[in-house]
Amino acid sequence: MKKSEIIDYLKDDHPSSLTELYARADGVRKEYMGDGILLRGIVEFSSFCKNTCSYCGLNKNNTHLDRFRLTKEQILESVGRIAGARIKTVVLQSGEDDEISAGWLAAVVKDIKARYDMAITLSVGERPRADYQCWRDAGADRYLLKIETANPALYAALHPQMDFNNRLRCLEDVRACGYQVGCGAIVGLKDQTIDDIAGDIVFFSENNFDMIGIGPFIPHAATVLGGEQKGGVALTIKAVALTRIATGTAHLPATTALGSVGEKDYRIDALKAGANVLMPNFTPKAFKKRYEIYPGKRCVDEDSEHCVGCMQALAASIGRHIDYSRGDALKTIVSVLR
Ligand code: SAH
Repeated sequence: MKKSEIIDYLKDDHPSSLTELYARADGVRKEYMGDGILLRGIVEFSSFCKNTCSYCGLNKNNTHLDRFRLTKEQILESVGRIAGARIKTVVLQSGEDDEISAGWLAAVVKDIKARYDMAITLSVGERPRADYQCWRDAGADRYLLKIETANPALYAALHPQMDFNNRLRCLEDVRACGYQVGCGAIVGLKDQTIDDIAGDIVFFSENNFDMIGIGPFIPHAATVLGGEQKGGVALTIKAVALTRIATGTAHLPATTALGSVGEKDYRIDALKAGANVLMPNFTPKAFKKRYEIYPGKRCVDEDSEHCVGCMQALAASIGRHIDYSRGDALKTIVSVLR
């Protein structure tokens, strides 16, 4: 897909155009990924963060947040519940927490691998290459680091103290270490244009990522963007659909943010427009609410096992089924990051 074509689709809100786009993306999804919906159990294990991302509730300037860090035992207990639900991927996510040493997280990875037949995705932000290598050597399989926006100027405006080129460096490093690589973006950020969103989709397809998470911006009161508009649902789903068409075999989650942005659970719409993954939250119930990257997160009061049941019903309601396999990358890694 040419960037100009992507822009045309993103600008077109005519109902018949949307129906056609979603059907096309759903066809590509069916052809390359089949009807199974993969599950990744997420465990949010630290809400401490040294960064000041202007959209994120975990940013260090948010003094209202009651921060937490799980112990290794608590993480292993959560992973046990994921295994008990027959799910074969755990995503360990945190803020950028310098108290988490490479050695400690490597030990967590090793213990999970010793006890369970499970793929491990890490999502702990920007680190030196040696840390990525250490976790890879310990057995971690995948790394998730969203670019958030592929426009360097917008990235700089949203991330004071951070460096776009360092984020690219991290994406290159995790790939070079042999991880399956996840990326993604936020749709509807302040000052983000249609051209920017099209640029994100081009970035995803050029870099051949194995997984791409796209969610709408949800304003958090304790951030500098707290008073801004939330990202559009239709625009986000169009971005998912176009990413499916542009990338073919990438795993695309129907993100929790899409499930949380409105009254309705819009993850179902994403699943019908190219998405093939859901991410039930297995953070211990007492901590789920405290990992508040944005407000109104869906199902924080539910037991995780209950969420899996809901996901089965959701899949069945659209003629699909839950696929309990690991869901490794279908892509052959051919391209090299710029
Ligand atoms: N520290 C890790 C994880 C970040 S939180 C890292 O840097 O990769 C996980 C994701 O939540 C982010 O990548 C971002 O895409 C999303 N996010 C954060 N704040 C958000 C908001 N207000 N609205 C929507 N998505 C948000």
